[in-house]
Amino acid sequence: MNANTRPKVPQTRECPVCGSESWRLDFGMIMPDARKTVPKTVFAGCFVFEEERFNPKTGQREFGGPQWECQSEDCRRRWW
Ligand SMILES: [Zn+2]
Repeated sequence: MNANTRPKVPQTRECPVCGSESWRLDFGMIMPDARKTVPKTVFAGCFVFEEERFNPKTGQREFGGPQWECQSEDCRRRWW
């Protein structure tokens, strides 16, 4: 994927738990001007972390770096 094919507005995804809209997590130092060009993105800071989750389908524990954050106030699930 290059700059010409990348969509300007990041796509949202459906939370696997509650079905609410989830936004992409973005890591790194991002200037305020640049943030305006990518709405519906959660800026999580300049560090990458791992989180634990249980796979809803298999019930197994998994570790990974979250890519998405549910925007429901009741859920806020981070997932990948
Ligand atoms: Zn959710």
